[in-house]
Amino acid sequence: MPTFEEARSIILSNVPTLGMERVDLLGSLGRVAAEDVAAPWDMPLYDNSAMDGFAVRSEDCRAGASLRVTGYIPAGETATPAVLPGCAVRIMTGAQIPPGCDAVVPIEETEERESAVLLRGKVNRSQHIRFRGEDVRSGDTVVTAGTVLHPPDISMLASFGKAFVPVHRKARVAVLSTGDELVELGETLSPGKIINSNALSLAAAVTATGAEPVILGIARDNMKSHRERMTEGLKADVLITSAGVSGGDRDLVRDCLTELGVHQLFWRVDIKPGGPLAFGVKEGKPVFSLPGNPVSTMVTFEEFVRPALLRMMGHRRVIPPYVKATLRGEVRKKPGKVHFLRVRIEVENGVRWAIPAGDQHTGILRTMVRANGIAVLPKEKAVFADGEEVAVHLLRGDAEMLED
Ligand code: AMP
Ligand code: MG
Repeated sequence: MPTFEEARSIILSNVPTLGMERVDLLGSLGRVAAEDVAAPWDMPLYDNSAMDGFAVRSEDCRAGASLRVTGYIPAGETATPAVLPGCAVRIMTGAQIPPGCDAVVPIEETEERESAVLLRGKVNRSQHIRFRGEDVRSGDTVVTAGTVLHPPDISMLASFGKAFVPVHRKARVAVLSTGDELVELGETLSPGKIINSNALSLAAAVTATGAEPVILGIARDNMKSHRERMTEGLKADVLITSAGVSGGDRDLVRDCLTELGVHQLFWRVDIKPGGPLAFGVKEGKPVFSLPGNPVSTMVTFEEFVRPALLRMMGHRRVIPPYVKATLRGEVRKKPGKVHFLRVRIEVENGVRWAIPAGDQHTGILRTMVRANGIAVLPKEKAVFADGEEVAVHLLRGDAEMLED
């Protein structure tokens, strides 16, 4: 039985990286660039003014000098003929610097007199000019393959006229529930039945990871139904099943996957919750068999499936960020397994607390709802003292950790 870390590295070394597609620029937000993108021209493309003011020849500009104003260049216009000695041209921010000029004097440092401008202060050569290529040189790499695209990257690509961007394809992820006790959301609940909530939580988690869920419905607890649905599921890039993976006599998931040619790499991990967790591949396609208990399903998704999907979609950093937090209250566990303690991270007076989010039984969904982090309690340790530091995997990004 692999440990937590071993299981995760088996998974990460057995998932393929998906190929590339070209998407429109806005659609590339949050995706991973599949190729380097080079600047097709210098940026700025021409020397231009950083201020509203006057383009001048710095050698003419002693304090108190008066220059004749011979033209006006608004933004969007091109430069007029060369500016002659003793002259200046009124210029707006972003407009091209006219030939002959080597500085801009901001309007607030001047006084206008009829058709002349009086300079109040000292003028340095090159001041308030944005020079051609000072930001990016033609041919420079502006987006590196493997980068997650954020608004500044979108700005950069837009500035260079890139309407389409090569990114890694989104993983299509088939989500299959198993069990005779399940009814679909919207159907009537009869005695002994529960709603197939895992389909929704998994599809939501897949979407939140940037991948595309394909909900396959419910495989009933017989081989025929399993075979049909799983055959369908193996057409996607990834198949995730939930439930039917422990030792019960109706737990058919592993048998059926084996029959369908999925090579199983492990089927139990030294963790709690989520111990009955299987992973296999068929012709390079990953198959995750998650436990059925809704809390275990979500925890194992976060710890194992999410990193795998990110890797497939070209991400380099796929292991969730861990932060150190101070445990509030003593926590005990049996040695021998890594425990995933559902906690609330709260920051008070600069101390980041990890507060157990409630009853840690896997049947308690409310604890998972309340949690915004998972404290990973090491395998061999049994007692975690009040005030001890624990490593917490943040579930929802940093900003939310600061809310009251
Ligand atoms: P199993 O592994 O099939 O024994 O399922 C473990 C537990 O998870 C049982 O209590 C199931 O009723 C529950 N469960 C299984 N599948 C789902 C599902 N799709 N949605 C919600 N709960 C489920
Ligand atoms: Mg079942």
